[in-house]
Amino acid sequence: MLEVKPNQESAGPPEHVKNLILGSGPAGLSAALYSARAQLEPVVLAGQEYGGQVSLTHIIENYPGFPDAVGGPELTELFKKQAERFGARVVFDTAIEVDLSQRPFRVKTYEKEYLADTLIIATGATPRHLGVPGEVELTGRGVSYCGTCDGFFFKDKDVIVVGGGDSAMEEGAFLTRFANNVTLVHRREEFRAGDLLLQRAKENPKMKFITDTVVNKIEGNGAVNTVELENLKTGDKQAFKTDGVFIFIGHTPNTQLFQGQLEMDAGGYLIANKYMETSVPGVFVAGEVADPHFRQVITSAGMGAAAAIQATRFLEENP
Ligand code: NAP
Repeated sequence: MLEVKPNQESAGPPEHVKNLILGSGPAGLSAALYSARAQLEPVVLAGQEYGGQVSLTHIIENYPGFPDAVGGPELTELFKKQAERFGARVVFDTAIEVDLSQRPFRVKTYEKEYLADTLIIATGATPRHLGVPGEVELTGRGVSYCGTCDGFFFKDKDVIVVGGGDSAMEEGAFLTRFANNVTLVHRREEFRAGDLLLQRAKENPKMKFITDTVVNKIEGNGAVNTVELENLKTGDKQAFKTDGVFIFIGHTPNTQLFQGQLEMDAGGYLIANKYMETSVPGVFVAGEVADPHFRQVITSAGMGAAAAIQATRFLEENP
């Protein structure tokens, strides 16, 4: 992951582009490929996390075309290389202010200002963190936010899942394909998950449930081996042995920049129609910033392609 630091030097007149893409995950880079092939000469602002969530994923086994799997960072590089081959320009800079009140849209970054005839927002979502000691240090060493990505590495091991929503149930059940035991730890007695996923999880013989309980800290020397659990009703604390901690407590879409300018749902996800169009004509979305449901590399890439096709049509109709 490449952290983009602000550059205090300010920079010349605004650059006018036909198509500006915010975000360099599978959605943003697929949009760039399609937009470049349509001669829109797109500029991609890579954002704070180059490659997005996929670059944090060790191995991807469910992206078609890679029967022997592909590393997350490697896939990002391939996406980038393919888009650049057709003229896309990936810039390691981040949008810090946008004005969508008139076209061309104004986008201010750390480095400069852009005027964009069309904008594709692919800023993604960030998995929520527990914020407990050990979580950051042991991420990728037993702490994970993606069962589909990392479950395979927990073959015949014991893991815990944190959360009580649909994701926790679905991913927990998925993890039982690999793990010996999946213990789901939830902070309340009632679950937020819908009946069907909850029932399936409860009927799964490899799943156990600990309710009214939180994880206070995650410990391990180089790899997770224990969590401290606290029962919120009794106050009892216990050291619980585990090889993995999968955290599914929701995602936060990266939409703060667009507040008050684009329609969002109650969770802050951008609202778009099936053409990837937002409430502002000329502004399109792609990927998890508008998708709390599928959250896969392939679905995000597909949304990116669709957004770029629509942006191209929009420019034909609104030169
Ligand atoms: P979610 O529904 O927001 O659930 C998050 C869970 O994490 C809740 O149980 C919440 O507890 C818990 N939580 C939140 N912050 C916590 C913290 N700091 N410490 C401990 N626990 C915490 O998120 P989600 O499960 O990712 O689902 C997101 C959306 O995607 C939902 O609309 C869901 O229906 C949908 N989805 C659907 C499917 C499907 O249909 N197949 C699969 C996955 C997701 P509380 O309940 O106490 O608040």
